[in-house]
Amino acid sequence: VEGDVAIVGSGVAGALVAWRLARAGLRVLVFEAGPRVDRQGAVERFRSSPDRGLASPYPDLPWAPRPRLDALHDYYVQVGPDLFTGVYERRVGGTTWHWLGTCLRMLPADFRLRTLYGVGVDWPLSYQDLEPWYREAEEALGVAGEQDLGSPRSGPYPMPPVAPTWVDRVVGRVVPLSLLPQARNSRPYDGRPACCGAASCVPICPTGAKYDAAVHVARAEQAGARLLTETVVHRLELGPDGRVWGLRFLRPDGSAGEARAALYVVAAHAIETPRLLLMSGACPGSTALGRYLMGSTAQVSRALTREPLYPFRGPQVTSGFLGRRDGPFRRRRAAFYTSVGTDGWPDGAPPELARRFIAQGLQGQDLRRALAEHASRQLTLASSCEELPCADNRLELDRERRDPLGLPRPRLHYRVDDYTLRGAEQAMRWHERIFAALEADHRLHYAAAADPAHLAGTCRMGRDPRTSVVDPDLRCHEHPNLYLVGTAVFPTCGAGTPTLTVAALALRLAERLRR
Ligand SMILES: Cc1cc2nc3c(=O)[nH]c(=O)nc-3n(C[C@H](O)[C@H](O)[C@H](O)COP(=O)(O)OP(=O)(O)OC[C@H]3O[C@@H](n4cnc5c(N)ncnc54)[C@H](O)[C@@H]3O)c2cc1C
Ligand code: SF4
Repeated sequence: VEGDVAIVGSGVAGALVAWRLARAGLRVLVFEAGPRVDRQGAVERFRSSPDRGLASPYPDLPWAPRPRLDALHDYYVQVGPDLFTGVYERRVGGTTWHWLGTCLRMLPADFRLRTLYGVGVDWPLSYQDLEPWYREAEEALGVAGEQDLGSPRSGPYPMPPVAPTWVDRVVGRVVPLSLLPQARNSRPYDGRPACCGAASCVPICPTGAKYDAAVHVARAEQAGARLLTETVVHRLELGPDGRVWGLRFLRPDGSAGEARAALYVVAAHAIETPRLLLMSGACPGSTALGRYLMGSTAQVSRALTREPLYPFRGPQVTSGFLGRRDGPFRRRRAAFYTSVGTDGWPDGAPPELARRFIAQGLQGQDLRRALAEHASRQLTLASSCEELPCADNRLELDRERRDPLGLPRPRLHYRVDDYTLRGAEQAMRWHERIFAALEADHRLHYAAAADPAHLAGTCRMGRDPRTSVVDPDLRCHEHPNLYLVGTAVFPTCGAGTPTLTVAALALRLAERLRR
């Protein structure tokens, strides 16, 4: 196969680059490890699955394994000491199929952590460099929001905010909450319907009110891009001058193939992107490839409030507390932001509760009453704490243990440092204060643990070719026609959500490639 640009991965990063370049008339090839997703089929699988877990709508693919939250050793080889829980999907549209959709921009200070607080590193880009691309990203994904939330804006959000839930209103009486910007339609937008509150955004939105990258895959194809599904790229071929001259792929039926293009973009997320580069022997002069793996540590707490909150009736999170995302405290402990869950307790879904109450001997009206009382007062707070880049947190290839295509599985070394744990402890105190103000009982603070949503840092951006992998234009220092895009290039990750920044970087990259 031949094209002008070959893109590996059809998640939001790859799809946006493909769309913009195909629209500009380039011959774009997109290689995607997984199949297309049939939304209705995925909803049916989710509904009929006994656990309704994160992976339940999406069948396992033997040829393109992905990490599963309920089997974290099946694909990752975990060397420890801590368990890495970052997960992702491998199929057309990528991980946005089961993302929540919260779309915070990073804060200006997040780009200057070393300068301001003496920790981590600075980005080689500023917030101002990305601001116009944040706006374009919000237009493309369809973000509903209302305030700047500490990230100055040059224009309004494309849509008014999604309405707050009753949970937000009650909790908002004791703590200043902000409506979170979200890639979820508050009104019909871009050919997709308004959110109807079906409340299963993670792991599947039945209507498409929540953005997923299949939107831009379809648009790229309409503009002429060619999508090759069930095609696992396992090698980039490098010439003596460092240029990539081709890529090789494998298919589930055992067939193999190769492709050529002038430019190559790898957008396979923070584990598969460095894995592919390592399998290809790329970037030999950099000490950074595969290192600086960052998750984000979550402090989750739950309680029963005195007055009813009536959860389970809208998007799973609509509001949050953003007052600890930045400040001089970042010299010694992690920043965090707190989401107010509108979907009850992690283990408190009504069917599960009913089983528990029946086992305790409740029946009839008593059972009904107990169930309604409990389910209507469940509150969960989840604070997501930033992690700093640490060279020892890394991904390597495990050549002993291989996936079904015979490719080395990712081996992860991961440890959460005291900086982050101090932030998590602070978050727990904060949750306790909110629970106390709500006169809540049955309070429980889970042990701080890695957040499944976040994985970053393994191909970081910088100016020094020895200590980074790509330059500020996302071009590999050692390979002039190879570009990487996704959270893998983040030098630090802040306390927020990463994907809007990924989308902004992707649109900026597409414009540079087009030029
Ligand atoms: C439960 C959950 C909730 C989340 N909620 C939020 C949120 O609220 N806000 C937020 O900002 N972020 C959230 N995220 C994170 C968000 O989903 C990701 O940041 C985002 O989807 C990453 O997009 P991407 O395009 O970089 O990678 P992906 O979407 O993972 O796409 C990469 C693509 O590359 C393909 N690929 C991989 N390897 C190969 C190969 N060798 N050959 C060919 N193709 C390959 C994969 O199949 C995949 O389709 C959440 C994540 C999870 C798991
Ligand atoms: S609440 Fe329902 S309709 Fe709205 S985004 Fe979530 S899953 Fe989609």
